Amino acid sequence: MRFVSTRDATRKVPLSEAIRAGIAPDGGLYVPERMPHLEPADFEGARTLPEVAERWIAPFCEGDPLAPRLGEVVRDAFSFPAPLRRIAAEPLPVSVLELFHGPTAAFKDFGARFLAACLERQPHDPSRPVTILVATSGDTGGAVAAAFHGRPWARVVVLYPKGLVSPRQEKQLTCWGGNVRALSVRGTFDDCQRLVKEAFADASLRARFDLSSANSINIGRLLPQAAYYAAASLTRWRADGSAPAFVVPSGNLGNVLACLWARTAGLPISTIELAHNANRTVPDFLVSGEWLPRPSVATLASAMDVGNPSNMERLRHLHPDWRELARTVRAHSVTDEEIRVAIRRDFGEWGETWCPHTATAAHVYRNLPVELRAARHWVLVATAHPAKFESVVEPLIGRPVEIPKALAELLDRPSQATEIGASLDGLRGALLSD
Ligand SMILES: *Cc1c(COP(=O)(O)O)cnc(C)c1O
Repeated sequence: MRFVSTRDATRKVPLSEAIRAGIAPDGGLYVPERMPHLEPADFEGARTLPEVAERWIAPFCEGDPLAPRLGEVVRDAFSFPAPLRRIAAEPLPVSVLELFHGPTAAFKDFGARFLAACLERQPHDPSRPVTILVATSGDTGGAVAAAFHGRPWARVVVLYPKGLVSPRQEKQLTCWGGNVRALSVRGTFDDCQRLVKEAFADASLRARFDLSSANSINIGRLLPQAAYYAAASLTRWRADGSAPAFVVPSGNLGNVLACLWARTAGLPISTIELAHNANRTVPDFLVSGEWLPRPSVATLASAMDVGNPSNMERLRHLHPDWRELARTVRAHSVTDEEIRVAIRRDFGEWGETWCPHTATAAHVYRNLPVELRAARHWVLVATAHPAKFESVVEPLIGRPVEIPKALAELLDRPSQATEIGASLDGLRGALLSD
């Protein structure tokens, strides 16, 4: 199996190379040259998440130097569970897929750890570590820092917008030390992303450093995400032979793309609903067919504040006709007020505590026609632990949210960050001063 750019199907590269490069030379995103066919029978005997992940990823690795070590990679990456838990208080069939049991308590841990585990097993020049630049609006940076911390062949430089991430998210960016450096940028998330792009385009920085990116466009972050959809859908399939439906909180569309890929390959997944916050670019596009990216607006579900989702290029590659795409998935926009109502109501009625991102999925589910909710088993995808967003959640439910152990350990560590201006010279200075 090889991978092609969304913009040019003629140049094909193996998985390792697509992972190492991050983005294709023509500026496009890597996608598999064809989707493998995988049905439930292909997963016979695979029970645990690493076992399912190995069967899912194996066809994508065929012929790649990584293939013989895939078992190791998935055991390293999938070192924590993704439980599918029935909402006991709801009579209709609905479950939560909890993706927040990793080191930084958000689903980004799956992709970041798989990427690190793959890069770990590629050849390294001991005199020249790989410099991983990552711009973050909150969760990606922490997950990448956690996944690469202590790996001597890598150094990580995280850029985040000063004052625009939650205090606990900031802690997860700044608590590492060692081979991880946090840069607090006087600017917005868009500035951080621009600086990373400018650094990649700068010949002198490229000559001086072996630059690599860990942003969500990397195929090494997408493939492992499909594994938890495979595992969850197989659990339902084995229980009663049915294909569950998923509601996925969405921003840059990486998580939902993984769900679509799993379904396209043949896993038993029925409906897919996208839950967006007030950033309506995708819901509007599916209605009008006009792609109108716009600046992002700040919402309570900040990790989904994306006005120009980069993975749309992969979605449109999969379904070039927007009408076909609109028949394949549905997208909804959820306001901050609806997020607040969902958090309060589901705590009261179900005893469930959602993070603001997960609350968008809960809102979308509750607003589906009851016949549809009764007709299949629904899965709400829980993308982060509510304790990461305690300043939003606690006032709404009127009590403290218990902090998971991994998160508590990070909160105890000291913070270090270097403040820089939002210019390439600021970033250059920080990179060279190390
Ligand atoms: C990143 C993130 C999202 C959005 O996921 P995409 O893959 O960008 O669509 C949703 N919720 C949380 C908690 C996140 O960190």
